[in-house]
Amino acid sequence: MTNTRFQALSKVADNQVTEIEAPGNKISDFYAINVFTDDIMKSYLSKDAFDIVMLAIKSGNKIDRATAEQVATGMKSWAMSRGVTHYTHWFQPLTGATAEKHDAFFQQTATGKGMEIFDGNALVQQEPDASSFPSGGLRVTFEARGYSAWDPSSPAFIMDTGNSKTLCIPTIFVSYNGEALDYKAPLLKSLQALETAAVEVCHYFDKNITRVTPTLGWEQEYFLVDEALYEARPDLVASGRTLFGHSSAKGQQLDDHYFGSIPERVQAYMVDYENECYKLGIPLKTRHNEVAPSQFECAPFFEEVNIAIDHNQLLMDLMDRVARRHKLRVLLHEKPFAGVNGSGKHNNWSMATDTGKNLLSPGRTPKTNFMFLTFFVNTIKAVEEHADLLRAAIASAANDFRLGANEAPPAIISVFIGSYLTEVLNEVEKRVKKGNLDEADHQLLKLDIHNKIPDLMLDNTDRNRTSPFAFTGNKFEVRAVGSSANCSSTMTVLNTIVADQLKKFKIEVDGLMKSGETKDSAILKVLQQYITCSKRICFEGNNYSDEWEKEAKKRGLNNVKTTPYALDFYVTEKAIKVMTENKVFSHKEIEARHEIELEKYMKMVQIESRMMGEVAMTYIIPSAMRYQQQLAQSIQTAEAMGVKEKNLKVQKDLLNDVAEHISVIIKEVDDMTEARKKANEIEDARDKAIAYCEKVKPFFDEIRYHADKLELVVSDDLWSLPKYREMLFLR
Ligand code: ADP
Ligand code: MG
Repeated sequence: MTNTRFQALSKVADNQVTEIEAPGNKISDFYAINVFTDDIMKSYLSKDAFDIVMLAIKSGNKIDRATAEQVATGMKSWAMSRGVTHYTHWFQPLTGATAEKHDAFFQQTATGKGMEIFDGNALVQQEPDASSFPSGGLRVTFEARGYSAWDPSSPAFIMDTGNSKTLCIPTIFVSYNGEALDYKAPLLKSLQALETAAVEVCHYFDKNITRVTPTLGWEQEYFLVDEALYEARPDLVASGRTLFGHSSAKGQQLDDHYFGSIPERVQAYMVDYENECYKLGIPLKTRHNEVAPSQFECAPFFEEVNIAIDHNQLLMDLMDRVARRHKLRVLLHEKPFAGVNGSGKHNNWSMATDTGKNLLSPGRTPKTNFMFLTFFVNTIKAVEEHADLLRAAIASAANDFRLGANEAPPAIISVFIGSYLTEVLNEVEKRVKKGNLDEADHQLLKLDIHNKIPDLMLDNTDRNRTSPFAFTGNKFEVRAVGSSANCSSTMTVLNTIVADQLKKFKIEVDGLMKSGETKDSAILKVLQQYITCSKRICFEGNNYSDEWEKEAKKRGLNNVKTTPYALDFYVTEKAIKVMTENKVFSHKEIEARHEIELEKYMKMVQIESRMMGEVAMTYIIPSAMRYQQQLAQSIQTAEAMGVKEKNLKVQKDLLNDVAEHISVIIKEVDDMTEARKKANEIEDARDKAIAYCEKVKPFFDEIRYHADKLELVVSDDLWSLPKYREMLFLR
């Protein structure tokens, strides 16, 4: 009898630290060598063509065919000089992963030989055979075709997988009728909406500003687990999380991992994927241990949102590939292990001007302070208005395990700004309400915001780690995003609602100015109103507490804990209005997205439920039954040998416990299967997702409870699933 767990454990014992070869002496030697950077492009294009591309990137204009032809020729020459044989349009379908379909440059010629070809057409548009990507019904009525189209604002790059090198061209992915089938298309529209609105508002303060670029710095959390142990856990392989497993006697309670040194094997892995990232121009900056054992984090310098998201998608892909070289598996799931912290992906967001100003960084002068205050208050107001839409954007089956689980922000969206800025806003409100604006203007704009905030924010006492949307000195940090998520969903919503808010602000301020107010006093009056009505969304206390749940309810803030219901917020009248008016989604597109997300949820729970049944019946029950048999035989023998009944009593109790857990599990798995069958008959995507959430998922805890109890008593040599204590402490 082979025990899969012991086989896996013996492989772990054989593991050595994988040697890695440094691609250069210092990072700057190989940074972005696999990227078709602006500098490289410049050396392949005529000056005119280069200027056209740069202008197109800045303005979002189309690139003409002749220029595209030059770019394609340049890309091909550069790529071939680096040993590239194939190219692909690289896009982000709504499955969450990235997709690519490789075509060779090579083409046969009439001579029977061949040559390498890559032209403007191939660069600009491709038609991947994509009928199996989720489309929420957008394509069925037309054709099962989708098109990928070049996004010149994100540079092409070479994906080097050791044995092959592929030129990857970042693209959007749309249906035959131009409807978005991916994350990037709506994201780019939201960036455009925000830029337009923000530039207009900037002009109240500075006419020199012609561009505003939203910026994103993500922080990626992840777990690592040994490959052999991973392979021995079918639940982890199929669903990305452990569906069973009693918590380890030693978990994260000692907090020793967070401050501990990084194990050598992990360190080698980190350096390895970091090097791969640097080659692709991903500016990774920090690496450290996280709270849970075997949990880690990395974060880059922030970049323009579109590029930052492409880089995050690439990073997740690289992390997965590189882990295999080190006989590790990276777990990007939001909650791979019960009982220890899950993983998130903080999205640090701000807006930068082409004059080099961060709009969410308090200024050094009254004028820039005023501009900061304007963007700061408008962002808060946008969240106050559309908190529900943000909630929808972070919703997923996996994130449901984190939100509100006392380790991650709750399902209630609120904003934290710190005590000093709260005071500042109160001050603005009080003075503007009082009315003697001339004096108030004067006082307010002299407020020494710049010099006080950074210090205060860096002081940990004023850093609320429990808030889902926190101001951290010069940016807002969205903390409720899941670790495996594509940041685009959240960023698209945030850009759009802030764009919408800034447009409204402009209309209100212009209105007041038309009726005779000075510019400054008009701005202050509108800001004051926003501050007053944004109070209900601002919360400085502990977001993990029960008191906050009660308080939030009083304030009328929603607290929707499960994905099928949170997704409703995508299709409210208000949400559809803000999305369509800012031209980010059409009504049809947003309905489609809603449906796709519901389906994703349903499928995830379905997979977990099937795995739960299978693992329970084929791993846990057989182990437990063998143990039951051993116990029964042992007791029988003891009885035959005349051991006194009083000594056998507790042994029989144990036997009964084991038998009871076994029978409950078998019964519950049966009932769960029935519930699943019923749910599967439901046609409507929302009803089906809700059935999975409310009728199928509740069995998980029940089945797991009994299985985990068995793990604690069944003889260790009979237990065939790697245990938490073995998986969580990497050697
Ligand atoms: P932490 O929040 O872990 O203390 P930091 O505040 O230093 O770390 O930075 C976290 C992330 O915020 C980094 O990825 C950083 O690049 C990013 N960040 C800093 N400034 C901005 C900005 N203006 N816009 C977007 N992201 C930013
Ligand atoms: Mg942070």
